[in-house]
Amino acid sequence: ADELNMIQGALELRSKTVEDVMTPIHDCFMVSSDAILDFSTMSEIMETGYTRIPVYEQEKSNIVDILYVKDLAFVDPDDCVPLKTITKFYSHPLHFVFYDTRLDTMLEEFKQGKSHLAIVQKVNSEGEGDPFYEVLGLITLEDVIEEIIKSEILDE
Ligand code: ADP
Repeated sequence: ADELNMIQGALELRSKTVEDVMTPIHDCFMVSSDAILDFSTMSEIMETGYTRIPVYEQEKSNIVDILYVKDLAFVDPDDCVPLKTITKFYSHPLHFVFYDTRLDTMLEEFKQGKSHLAIVQKVNSEGEGDPFYEVLGLITLEDVIEEIIKSEILDE
């Protein structure tokens, strides 16, 4: 029965999109690009337990970088290093996907390696002004795998 559920889940990747399983933007933990890595900011980041943290400039819909929590390993909070120093040094690639990308396509993209996290966006052409990219959330490989095995993966 577990196998059948998994096959079912795998088949359903074709009929679901990134938007169906992403973590919506209001639930994303992000950090501002002009943050200072003092004790309180570093504690806040560590305490979330996330591996990767999107970095935004000005507003949360403007994601410019990604911080890996492991990049903080040698950062001394007493030095009050600007976050930008760290993100510029590591300069991890940032991946974007459209919200209507099918999950089987997303899985293939994650399998190509690079990063296992992507920022979900759509082109917003509502309203008067020029169309712009709107960030809807983030998706990781785990969100896709979870769809295949159906039951929630319990993080330790
Ligand atoms: P982690 O290694 O940080 O636990 P996973 O890839 O295992 O991340 O994903 C676990 C869940 O957490 C997924 O649902 C994913 O969308 C979500 N997630 C990952 N990073 C963040 C973040 N910075 N803010 C909010 N949710 C996140």
